[in-house]
Amino acid sequence: MIRLFTMLQRSLFSRSALLVQTAPFENLLYSKNTHAASCIHRSLGSVTIPPPACMLRPLEAPLRYLFGPGPSNVPPRVLAAGGRPIIGHLHPEMYEIMNDIKKGIQYAFQTKNNMTIAMSGSGHTAMECAVFNTVEPGESVVVAVNGIWGERVAEIAERMGARVHRMVKAPGGYYSNEEIEQTLAKHKPVLFFLTHGESSAGLVHPVDGIGDICLRHNCLFLVDSVASLGGAPLFMDEQKIDILYTGSQKALNAPPGTAPISFNERACKKMFNRKTKPVSYLLDMTHLSNYWGCDGKTARIYHHTGPVSGFFSLRESLSILAEKGLENSWRQHKEVAEYLWKGLEDLGLKLFIKDKDLRLPCVTTISIPQGYNWRELLTYIMKHHQMEMTGGLGPSVGMVLRVGLMGYNCNKANADLALAALADALKVCPKSKA
Ligand SMILES: *Cc1c(COP(=O)(O)O)cnc(C)c1O
Repeated sequence: MIRLFTMLQRSLFSRSALLVQTAPFENLLYSKNTHAASCIHRSLGSVTIPPPACMLRPLEAPLRYLFGPGPSNVPPRVLAAGGRPIIGHLHPEMYEIMNDIKKGIQYAFQTKNNMTIAMSGSGHTAMECAVFNTVEPGESVVVAVNGIWGERVAEIAERMGARVHRMVKAPGGYYSNEEIEQTLAKHKPVLFFLTHGESSAGLVHPVDGIGDICLRHNCLFLVDSVASLGGAPLFMDEQKIDILYTGSQKALNAPPGTAPISFNERACKKMFNRKTKPVSYLLDMTHLSNYWGCDGKTARIYHHTGPVSGFFSLRESLSILAEKGLENSWRQHKEVAEYLWKGLEDLGLKLFIKDKDLRLPCVTTISIPQGYNWRELLTYIMKHHQMEMTGGLGPSVGMVLRVGLMGYNCNKANADLALAALADALKVCPKSKA
């Protein structure tokens, strides 16, 4: 025991993770317990699948300009935060960090909601968390579908047994408050879903007044801001959004894998007074609210192991946003987007969203130019400019090219790089059969 302890201590001091991991193992090997030793020797000799050759080569990940709809490039400061030594997910220092994250999200969302946490998982985890916790099987849900994200939420709600009513528009379409009110009056849903930044269409949807309509119809207002948070103005409390979520890897520039979400009092009242348990144990807000210290209890009980490094990075990215200020971030996205739009039009390209005020500053959609094959353009740009741009997604496939300049990537020098790559591709790629 003493030997094990000193070995562990030595290895911790030498900061060798390898030693830490092998210490207890070696101890067993040399132990006088011959039964345990022989078990280990047999298992060591019984390997029939050899180590794969690829695993004996070092990791290769190229440097790339991530100018698509996400993930976006991660600044060195955020990468460094994620590279710090791990601590336990239930250590007091981690609670401090989670409390900081909560405050950072409250600022980014412009909310005072206590029930504000980050999900362990991507944007979809937050989508499922919102729907699973606030809707019970058989209840009615209205989903605005004007691109892929409404389609996804409608499917998530259907899978858990909700009665889903879709308001369908072609990508780029948007809804008047009157239309929304009429649909809520007709279907009497418990939840209405709208995407703020529709990244598959490049549209930023107006939000003013919709929260009041939902309130009048006793329905919760759920908004997706994965592609717009930090890039376009959004005020959770003032705009009476009941549930708001975002992702880490778009304008926040953290690695993918964490997703901020916030619920107001009205949403909490609904989700904590359910008759049935949510279908997902992992995403159950009664557990998650305890894990994040939002339930008023002093003890936090183990529920799942949060992504510690992911939370370090998320904290750093929220801290960058707080230092910069939301208004500056919104202004920067608007200015760079307008510069990009002008450059694209100078190349003879047509922007997919005609009305400037409805264009999402984070992700710009370009109508596919006549006579070009969009896949060829994107492949050329990736190969010769090490730059990711993408095509459409879901209903916008074959309709648009998408260029995203978000957060850390959002500056005129990067817009110039993107424009130069597009100009080159338009010149070189043969006007093709497609
Ligand atoms: C990217 C995106 C998502 C999905 O996020 P993941 O992290 O990929 O799960 C959801 N909504 C919008 C608007 C997005 O742009």
